Amino acid sequence: MALTVTGALLDGEVVGVRCVDGLIAAIGAGVATQPGDEAIDAGGAPLVPALVNGHTHAAMTLFRGYGGDLPLMRWLEEKIWPVEAKLDDEDVYWGARLACAEMIRGGTARFWDMYWHPLATARAVEDAGLRAHVGGPLFDVDGRTAEMQAQTLADTEALAGCGPTIAASIAPHSIYMVSEALLRWVGERATERGLAIHLHLSETEKEVADCLAAHGVRPAIYLDRLGLLGERTVLAHGVWLDQEELELIAARGATVVANPVANMKLAVGGVMPYRAARDAGVAVGLGTDGAGSNDSLDLLSDLKLFALSQRHAAGDPTVLPAAEALAIAAGARAPLLRDGAAPATPSETAAELLVRGAPADFLLLRGDSPALGLGELASDLVYAASGAVVDTTVVAGRVLMRGGVVEGEAEIVARAAERADRLGIRVDG
Ligand SMILES: [Zn+2]
Repeated sequence: MALTVTGALLDGEVVGVRCVDGLIAAIGAGVATQPGDEAIDAGGAPLVPALVNGHTHAAMTLFRGYGGDLPLMRWLEEKIWPVEAKLDDEDVYWGARLACAEMIRGGTARFWDMYWHPLATARAVEDAGLRAHVGGPLFDVDGRTAEMQAQTLADTEALAGCGPTIAASIAPHSIYMVSEALLRWVGERATERGLAIHLHLSETEKEVADCLAAHGVRPAIYLDRLGLLGERTVLAHGVWLDQEELELIAARGATVVANPVANMKLAVGGVMPYRAARDAGVAVGLGTDGAGSNDSLDLLSDLKLFALSQRHAAGDPTVLPAAEALAIAAGARAPLLRDGAAPATPSETAAELLVRGAPADFLLLRGDSPALGLGELASDLVYAASGAVVDTTVVAGRVLMRGGVVEGEAEIVARAAERADRLGIRVDG
């Protein structure tokens, strides 16, 4: 089944896009609907690539607004961990479906997830029509190293058997929740099986101080020594990385995902050093983090805060131009986040992702949105828009939202609320 979109506006030119087998088969001024195609007349709506959310804990939508004013450790110990101990597959499935509905609404096609019951998340992603890299978190501070290893091997094997839109990754939580021995094991298994590694790194200053005290080196150096820093490594946060660490990360080809809203909500006291990372040649992406610590999965809203926080922290309004910020949110500056999808090298702009042979993941924006249309599109998207400007979301050539309607959304919201009730965490009124 082919999908053809005509009458879309790309870089000021009216174009058509024809999608076959999940890929862009043709894009340009002369592309027209062929007999038998599913057809969309964009009516002059702007066409942009779909976004990539580089760090999530999708099912944590269930915890949105639950104890969020507490300090981090009290929030985890008193609110989150007791409820997470009760989670079952159906809780995670409906929490992840809720996250997927929100991401479809906000124009996200692909995300990198770390959460319990990863197969339930994978099932939710497949049912929603999105793409994800999925890994169950590893922790062994409680001594459950062997159990974690067995679970991880079972999960990655089962995830590999999911459909083409799901990729397995190994997701050690962080260097402070995972032992040195288990981290080494993760590095070996990831290399052996060609899997990506996804972890939190250098989120707080305390993490850096503790790493220096325990291992004598900063977090990225420690990770490299254990064999975990490579081309298929995604480092979430990276707020406290120094110049030496950034140069090492660039040399190893790893990716850093900034999570500015979660950093501000948890008051970590800094921003990911974007300018130094870019200048060192680090691949950079953008993530929301879990809905428990954000609380939104609207990547365009976070993009504004990413750009503003970088400008503010640098004391320099030129540190991150709007087109560059938009390219980061689309995953254009971090090929791994797009799973090596063409083109495999970093792209300058988001629009360069929309080429023949690339995944058919794109958005049509509301042409009549008050937030768009007068200024430069990239600038409007970064500073004036939110996910509310997305009219149509297409992922792998399938229409997941049209005219702002996500199929089945009411049921998803109702079922997620039932799961929150079951867990005793729903706050009424
Ligand atoms: Zn996280």
